[in-house]
Amino acid sequence: GRAAITTSGETVCPFCSVGCRVTLHQADDRIIWAEGADGPANHGRLCVKGRFGFTYLRHADRLTMPLIRRPGVPRDTGAGLRGPQVMDLFRPASWDEALDAAAKGFRRVRARHGGAALAVLGSAKGSNEDAYLLQKLARAGFGTPHIDHCTRLCASVPPLAEATGLAAVTAPIEEIANADVVLMVGSNPDMNHPVAASFMKGALRSGTRLILVDPHGQSLSRFATHHFRIAPGTDVALLSAMTRFVIEEGLYDRVFVAERVEGFEALRRRVAPFTPEVAAHICGVKSEEIRTAARLFAGAHAAMTFWGMGASQHAFGADNIRAAIAFALVCGQVGRPGAGLHPLRGQNNVQGSCDAGLLPNYLPGYRDLDDAAECAVFEHLWGGRMSLSQGLSVVEMFDAARLGVVHGLYVVGGNPALANPDLAATRAALVGLDHLVVQDIFPTETVAYADVVLPAAALAEREGTVTNTDRIVQRITPALPPPGAARPDWMIIRDLAVRLGLPWEQVSVESIFEEMAGVVPTLKGFHWPLLAKAGHARYPLQGEGTSDSLFGDGFLRGERALIAPLDASGVDEAPDAEFPFILMTGRLREHWHTGSMTRRSPVLETLSPEPRAHLHPDDLVGLQLAAGDEVEVRTRRGAVHLPVRPDASIRPGVVWMAMSFFEAAANELTIGRLDPTTRVPEFKFCAAAVKRK
Ligand code: SF4
Repeated sequence: GRAAITTSGETVCPFCSVGCRVTLHQADDRIIWAEGADGPANHGRLCVKGRFGFTYLRHADRLTMPLIRRPGVPRDTGAGLRGPQVMDLFRPASWDEALDAAAKGFRRVRARHGGAALAVLGSAKGSNEDAYLLQKLARAGFGTPHIDHCTRLCASVPPLAEATGLAAVTAPIEEIANADVVLMVGSNPDMNHPVAASFMKGALRSGTRLILVDPHGQSLSRFATHHFRIAPGTDVALLSAMTRFVIEEGLYDRVFVAERVEGFEALRRRVAPFTPEVAAHICGVKSEEIRTAARLFAGAHAAMTFWGMGASQHAFGADNIRAAIAFALVCGQVGRPGAGLHPLRGQNNVQGSCDAGLLPNYLPGYRDLDDAAECAVFEHLWGGRMSLSQGLSVVEMFDAARLGVVHGLYVVGGNPALANPDLAATRAALVGLDHLVVQDIFPTETVAYADVVLPAAALAEREGTVTNTDRIVQRITPALPPPGAARPDWMIIRDLAVRLGLPWEQVSVESIFEEMAGVVPTLKGFHWPLLAKAGHARYPLQGEGTSDSLFGDGFLRGERALIAPLDASGVDEAPDAEFPFILMTGRLREHWHTGSMTRRSPVLETLSPEPRAHLHPDDLVGLQLAAGDEVEVRTRRGAVHLPVRPDASIRPGVVWMAMSFFEAAANELTIGRLDPTTRVPEFKFCAAAVKRK
């Protein structure tokens, strides 16, 4: 018979930045059912991951005790291992023994090479309190500036901050209901933000017009008034042509530009070469459609602009986003109901982790590391062994490890052994480290290289706050206890800090939140009791417990937005005779990043059980391949083997792969080149060859 529900607990879904609240129903310490709760972002809705992805919480592979690498087991033994295979590399340890070993290794590296030989890699999957405490440990405890997290692999906000002074959306997703036009660049929300997409579709069905910029087809295509299926990597040309057209035709918002925008004349000169005809040739679209779409956006009563990883995950991603922002600013489509800029974020707590300062280039609250007065605030607050300077980003940390500059690494919740570009380079870095401590909920590919493994509680098993893509800070309480000896990340970080000599014995979730809210300007007015009572609140607060869904004009940088000079830099590795395809990577609706959680869900695994190389049917004919045939996909970095799937939504000439499958890891193939502004790697364009295995 069916088990009777014994308890029900509420949490926030960990699988994307929409921040859906979910109720987990349990029987006998087993979760048997999840349903959408009435949260501020989802109003009862859940997607397939939120509904069926919860089984990871009680999966047999969960790390339930601290582990220490067995003597004589070299680190490279871990290459290619995951899950239970990893466990043989380690012996169980007590918390005291494991934390002592972790701290001893970090102290040893610091004594030999200095604090800057240590690096810390966090995650956007944890809570705000985890993120704040981890960056504080790095800077004030380790004495290293090298602190970053996985948001670096998709960062889409820096160009927004550069333009507006804001490192958060100017308008939340729900403002789409007030928009009559939406411009969406490089985003497939039905795959990556499904509940947000469901609200978007509601607006689109009610008459909001959609201009979609995406090389591939997607489920929102059928709602699009214009779908520009541009050649990969040509976003800047298209958006520049639209900008040029509205300027030349006098369709832009002259008053807004005169009063609120800097950099207009430079932009006018920069976009001058991009006539609709030139852009049409570069992008492979129709020039007349460029004019029609530009006219539609500029003439809208209110238009919202969204962008996603398709825009940002390029070595020229910042310029893609700058071009979209410039078009919106020139048209005055910012700062009113239904008008605004919205980078659709990746992981559940990207916004909160960045606000908390889990970044190498900003202190908490985006305070400037190059400003002595800002640094003094933290020197006064934290004391200790401070490192307040610009640090290395994710990929740069691993480059530095390979070069023998970084010797010790603390990884909290990240899985670089599958998530980083050019995995062979990442593996070489991991093998060469003197000391590696990994804190996670599962024995991931990265855990296999660790000296010490610290078992963490999952998000649903802890207390704290998270901040979604819409700037809503939500309080979370444990929906169920952690398994075995697993502990919340903030608690492990605290206990490690105490062993490194920091006086943090009394640190609690509440004390971390209150300290963070005191130094992060956007959290002004936030207090633990407020969140404990209300459950959630959107920043910026406007008085007692209320908030404004729009960042108003007053939040623009110095009252004026800045249009940054943008460049249409070329791609690094164009297809050629040996590698004639373009490799693009992405995500599926059913799986989440490196799959460590979603691939442990029987339902999600049944829906999407294996990696596939997606190719246009015409390309399969050209290669004399049929659906399911095994192929080798090769780039200059490596090769993987997997079956092909005919997919008419994929642009001809492109091979598309999801990043979530260790069996054919897409990042064996990707290229480590970084965007100079965002330091995001190129995940969407490199040359590849496809042939029958
Ligand atoms: Fe979870 Fe995102 Fe799906 Fe909501 S839309 S249920 S937050 S994965």
